Amino acid sequence: MALTLAIVGRPNVGKSTLFNRLAGKKLAIVHDEPGVTRDRRVAEGSLGNIALNLIDTAGLEDDEPGSLLARMKEQTLTAIDEADVALFLLDARAGVTAGDEIVADILRRTGKPVILAANKCEGRSGNEGLLDAYRLGFGEAIALSAEHALGLSELEDALAPFAEESEPEETEDDKPLRLAIVGRPNVGKSSLFNRLLGEERALTGPEAGITRDAIAVDWEIGERKILLHDTAGLRKKARAAGHTLEQLSIGSTLDAI
Ligand code: GDP
Ligand code: MG
Repeated sequence: MALTLAIVGRPNVGKSTLFNRLAGKKLAIVHDEPGVTRDRRVAEGSLGNIALNLIDTAGLEDDEPGSLLARMKEQTLTAIDEADVALFLLDARAGVTAGDEIVADILRRTGKPVILAANKCEGRSGNEGLLDAYRLGFGEAIALSAEHALGLSELEDALAPFAEESEPEETEDDKPLRLAIVGRPNVGKSSLFNRLLGEERALTGPEAGITRDAIAVDWEIGERKILLHDTAGLRKKARAAGHTLEQLSIGSTLDAI
């Protein structure tokens, strides 16, 4: 069995960048704007000899019950619940912020093993958050740079004790059928996706364009394994022009197809 790792932290610390790095592919949208990731996203990946089931999550923030942000938070809590270990990421250059304290509080309450890492540590200076993070109570932070692939062997060492029971990967024969749900925005793709899976796996709601990253989830009908993709809505290229985030969402959908 691969080790299930949830990457958790406040928005914009580099969670999706690290997720893509460990997955070895650009699966999640990375964008210099907080709150881009909404649904939790899973992928297989590896670090050295450790096989990983990766979960990328939306940034954790506090907000009104029922709001989109609060629903994003629930997705993140589910991700932590499913994980063997939570990787708590913060931005070393920003120091420890109030947002990080909120994440720390939530993680403490889950009782999951936590590995603390300070991202964006590629520079020699401006890494105040690296030492400061000790006071969060999760031990010393690992210095990482997801963008420049630094600190990954230290991360591997930290994960190794949890990965002892890892087994070899599945064979070609049990490769699932891949099925993508595609359509224009707001036609009910995510609602159908949830209905098929029998759980509120993707965020849905009246706001157009909630789904940003195309996500894929294992689903089974009888003996048959299916990898079911929910995708962002597609609009004419010209209409999306100038909306970088929407163009990235469309790219993610096209990749899924
Ligand atoms: P998320 O919201 O936590 O998923 O953060 P993203 O992965 O979307 O990254 C937010 C921003 O931080 C993007 O502009 C990334 O390019 C940038 N970023 C991510 N990792 C690093 C890093 O190691 N060093 C630096 N300098 N920037 C990074
Ligand atoms: Mg993200």
